[in-house]
Amino acid sequence: METKYIFVTGGVVSSLGKGIISASIGKLLQARGFKVTIQKFDPYINIDPGTLNPYEHGECYVTMDGMETDLDLGHYERFTGIHTTRNNSVTTGRIYKTVIDRERRGDYLGKTIQVVPHITDEIKRRMLREDEKDEQLDFVITEVGGTIGDIESAPFMEAIRQLRWQLGRNAVCVHLTYVPYLKAADELKTKPTQHSVKELQSMGIQPDILVLRTERHLDDALRMKVASFCNVDLECVVQSEDLPSIYEVPVNMQRQGLDAAIMRKIGIPVGETPAMKAWHDFLDKQRNAKREVHIGLVGKYDLQDAYKSIRESLNLAGIYNDVKAKIHFVNSEEITSQNVSEKLEGLAGIVICPGFGMRGIEGKIVAAEYTRTHDIPTFGICLGMQMMVIEFARNVLGYKDANSREMDEQTPHNVIDIMVEQKNITQMGGTMRLGAYECELVKGSRAFEAYGNETLIKERHRHRYEFNNAYKVEYEAKGMKCVGINPAADLVEIVEIPEKRWYIGTQFHPEYSSTVLHPHPLFMDFIKACRS
Ligand code: GLN
Repeated sequence: METKYIFVTGGVVSSLGKGIISASIGKLLQARGFKVTIQKFDPYINIDPGTLNPYEHGECYVTMDGMETDLDLGHYERFTGIHTTRNNSVTTGRIYKTVIDRERRGDYLGKTIQVVPHITDEIKRRMLREDEKDEQLDFVITEVGGTIGDIESAPFMEAIRQLRWQLGRNAVCVHLTYVPYLKAADELKTKPTQHSVKELQSMGIQPDILVLRTERHLDDALRMKVASFCNVDLECVVQSEDLPSIYEVPVNMQRQGLDAAIMRKIGIPVGETPAMKAWHDFLDKQRNAKREVHIGLVGKYDLQDAYKSIRESLNLAGIYNDVKAKIHFVNSEEITSQNVSEKLEGLAGIVICPGFGMRGIEGKIVAAEYTRTHDIPTFGICLGMQMMVIEFARNVLGYKDANSREMDEQTPHNVIDIMVEQKNITQMGGTMRLGAYECELVKGSRAFEAYGNETLIKERHRHRYEFNNAYKVEYEAKGMKCVGINPAADLVEIVEIPEKRWYIGTQFHPEYSSTVLHPHPLFMDFIKACRS
């Protein structure tokens, strides 16, 4: 089958959940046996979100091949289980960089370089995934960030317009809008949707399918009105009501025939509706998981999206453990040794979050000491693991001034040190140790058991600092074991204290590879310990 292209745009307001809709479309097509990928095009100028503060753009998600990307790629992977790559996340900055680098090389042979056609051609090339010629895909879903009408997304819209023309029936445009409910008038309003579609049409794009986000149910008359004002078939006006969980969205979309509408537009026989049994089993489990287990997220970003993948990994592991993981954010900047017992009261376990820089680290160290000495299940991730290591050095090994070189260049006890290959790096963007690396597990360790007795695993990384092997013998003698090692570079990837109920730190980020149908084994084991 020739590859088909689905473009997903959004109008009216941002934060409508375009990522969830794109991921759901991906899931539904996959359920029909198609090979799918989902990519995100973001209109900002940063080359990638790696240098962005999480307050700007939420978590930075990392692909297996080491690209720092938008958090929507996390939804794509969690919903579909596919592995995205560096070509699945593209920004305006990257597009321009490619074109400008080419211009400097002289590739354009004296031509004037312009937004149209040079920038739009580069966008089209990437939308068509011309760098990944080997992959045989049935569907490429392209989500465009931002909202219709933004100045910066105009070149993306022009590229979609041209591709639609070129691809004919092999392209489908899905547009997501918002239907607000006005309480005073007791009415749902379609005007913003009409305006948003007009805006799209003014750029030469006629949407094939409209997904209307709404807090209230939309009746047929309203859908009919939208259909006739926007030149869209009634069956192609789908509503996406607020649901108790984002994982209900694919099923809700399937019920309304969103995937069938896409197939019809393209001219593929619709056939039977896939049963999606595993997904439904998961949803049943989710609905039945009533008992709450309270987990603390010890971090410095008081923002839902900053630790998105960790939150989702905990949720998923909770559901598979038949409990509801209730997540409580605990601001590490506010934790002191005086108030720590109060701050962590009632929590069955804590996750010490990843991060960069000094702010809030002392609170993480205090939390790590408290949970270690009170034997509360604790999961340290990346910086969180490093803080567990520092706490142990200060309070067990007796090095009161132990620290990471990241926080204190002069520390005499640099139990966390800069990685050798990072020493001479001056450019900040995309230069960390990124992506998947191997890790050998020590037989008999808790981590080894959690991974189902696997000896060699692969996990994703995003860091510049590491455990200092000069201290390894001391740590192990005093009870903190190095149970996961990267064989190529001899880097410590996992530490644990076996005598505790669950006290594990990982230098890597397991949260990036937890999916709906395959929750991550470490999160599973952690929740199991918290639940008991
Ligand atoms: N700042 C730490 C490092 O660079 C940890 C990074 C992280 O938590 N992702 O090593």
